[in-house]
Amino acid sequence: MKPSRNHRLWVTSLLAGGFALSVGIYQWRSSSQGVQASSPPSVSTPSSPGPAPNSPKAAPAPPGLFAPPRGDVRLVVISDFNSQYGSTTYAPEVTKAISLIPGWQPDLVLSGGDMVAGQSRSLNRAQLQAMWAAFDRNVAAPLRKAQLPLGFTIGNHDGSGALSPAGRHIFTVDRQVASSYWNQQRPNLPFVDRANFPFNYSFAQDDIFYLVWDASTAKITQEQLAWVVRSLESPAAKKAKLRIMIGHLPLYGIAVGRNKPGEYLRNAEQLRVIMERYDVHTYISGHQHAYYPGRRGQLQLLHTGALGGGPRQLVGSNLTPQKTLTVMDIDYEALSTTYTTYDMKTLQVIDHLKLPRQIAGQNGTVYRRDVGITP
Ligand SMILES: [Zn+2]
Repeated sequence: MKPSRNHRLWVTSLLAGGFALSVGIYQWRSSSQGVQASSPPSVSTPSSPGPAPNSPKAAPAPPGLFAPPRGDVRLVVISDFNSQYGSTTYAPEVTKAISLIPGWQPDLVLSGGDMVAGQSRSLNRAQLQAMWAAFDRNVAAPLRKAQLPLGFTIGNHDGSGALSPAGRHIFTVDRQVASSYWNQQRPNLPFVDRANFPFNYSFAQDDIFYLVWDASTAKITQEQLAWVVRSLESPAAKKAKLRIMIGHLPLYGIAVGRNKPGEYLRNAEQLRVIMERYDVHTYISGHQHAYYPGRRGQLQLLHTGALGGGPRQLVGSNLTPQKTLTVMDIDYEALSTTYTTYDMKTLQVIDHLKLPRQIAGQNGTVYRRDVGITP
């Protein structure tokens, strides 16, 4: 399914036009506590939803931490919590993140996957169940107790969709145990389609349509793509102010050791064109274990950092790998998003301007979201 040259030209000119419109949306402001994206003052009109123009905007945060102004909707995005195969314990950064999350008062918590450490043939059903029980104790139960809904995507270590040459799932038991756990502890999400929950599903909350796909392997099937298109054409998706997609593997490789086939989605450019065609604002992914606030074409790419084992270096960067958590504030009026990302060791805000301006991955270049270059 290679796009024709004419199609590519059409897409390129579409993107160039879109860029001119969107260039004013993202502005980056330095502050003593770090750097964050902010909307230009001109887009905050008195008619916008939220606090009255003269009242200070709410900015909830855990005590002592930098407190970004709250958007109309606030998400906390976390990913890749697991430690070594079979582990039933979590790194201190995971525990710290979970205990801090209620302080930001998010509307929703999103997980980019790899919540447990499966995908090993040496693990039996009882061990897999013990890992999900540990996940529940350490992550899901505290969030439920705080009445925070949790959306998530299945990672390769949760329930890999890898197929044998005969076309059968290699990690059938992993997928059975993951499915059984999530159906017993089904999160309190306003589902639109949960026929294939927990692998492929959608929900709509606060005027935002969330589409979660099984990107636990590099291959998105034709069947999945047909479902994605149907879902994005649905009234729930169309009437939403913003559409967000979530999958474990990213479209493009950005991290050292993960910048190779199998570690990002195949046919990323075609997938991106489909997402852009249906006005998907952001694709959130995990797996690469490196935070990068990216963009390619019109699509925002939030690459989440790992909270558990093995944070990785960004390709072409000497920065020390960090375990991170991202607060994503969504502004309805500007249809823009602001990321405030914390290093979970130091609790300091990541200075976005210190991240590489672009990352030339093996299957495409991803630009830092404030950098005004259209590929
Ligand atoms: Zn992974």
